[in-house]
Amino acid sequence: MTFQKTDLMGNPYETLSYNVQKNERVMYLQAAAHDSMPRAPGPRISGRGGGMGPSEASPMAACMIPRDVDYLYQRTCLMKILVAVKRVVDYNVKVRVKSDNTDVDIANVKMSINPFDEIAVEEAVRLKEKGVATEVVAVSCGPTACQETLRTALAIGADRAIQVETDAQLQPLAVAKLLAAVQAKESAGIILLGKQAIDDDANQTGQMLAALLKLPQGTFASKIEVADGQATVTREIDGGLETLRMPLPAVITADLRLNEPRYVTLPNIMKAKKKPLEKFSPADLGVDPAPRLKVLKVTEPPARQGGVKVSSVEELVEKLKNEAKVI
Ligand code: AMP
Repeated sequence: MTFQKTDLMGNPYETLSYNVQKNERVMYLQAAAHDSMPRAPGPRISGRGGGMGPSEASPMAACMIPRDVDYLYQRTCLMKILVAVKRVVDYNVKVRVKSDNTDVDIANVKMSINPFDEIAVEEAVRLKEKGVATEVVAVSCGPTACQETLRTALAIGADRAIQVETDAQLQPLAVAKLLAAVQAKESAGIILLGKQAIDDDANQTGQMLAALLKLPQGTFASKIEVADGQATVTREIDGGLETLRMPLPAVITADLRLNEPRYVTLPNIMKAKKKPLEKFSPADLGVDPAPRLKVLKVTEPPARQGGVKVSSVEELVEKLKNEAKVI
């Protein structure tokens, strides 16, 4: 019996052959028949009778194969999750501007995984633990030091890591192009990012990536549910919550309330050191990461003026009206 595998756009790319009675893959299918995962709509792998067809196999195999091949496809191909992690100045550090006003000073400053990316990795790992995803791949773009950030993602529970190594100053469009090129290699079902990096506060990369890949996007996710080849994303908007449903693959960006990342244990930090880390250069991926925007000046916010104590409500109202002129 042969099956035509299709990619996520429905284009055929691989034909699999099974000997329904003997092949061990069929044993896997039989095991899957007892699993309670719901069946996804529409075949991702379609049976094309040939060789030994279902009718020639045992009655049990014959009745379960179409459902389980579809399910197997979802588990093995569709539900890889790619998570983008950025190395940023630790959120506890008070950032200082360089004296020549060209950038912030990161020399000898503690760096960490971007907090929203830590939430994104946690969510990907939880989806894997629920059996929705089969593999979590963390990706970071930047200098060699990004490997520390990737090791943090691996310690949370990602399975392997990819570093796009470059010393170039990366702007969101360049990162989106690099991530799009990684996705072209990986064909993940979900690409998870943080909603924004706390250094540039750009909040652009996820949206640009979705546009480049022509994929649906669910930004600022505070809840993600995956079933039947679709993601249901609850997002926080002004004055309430919005719930979106989108077919996979999709780009999703993590908001603060999506989850609380787990505490990374020492044994997991040790295990993370042995997990695979693959490296590419932007040239390997065919991307020019050169900045498209020029930063003219970086300055500190104006220092806050000290407050004053008022002795009565009348005095407060008078000051708000006549001094601050806000009422
Ligand atoms: P931004 O658009 O810069 O606010 O970043 C939004 C998200 O894009 C971050 O939370 C990361 O998930 C991802 N991202 C941005 N820059 C990088 C990078 N250099 N490497 C990996 N992911 C990144």
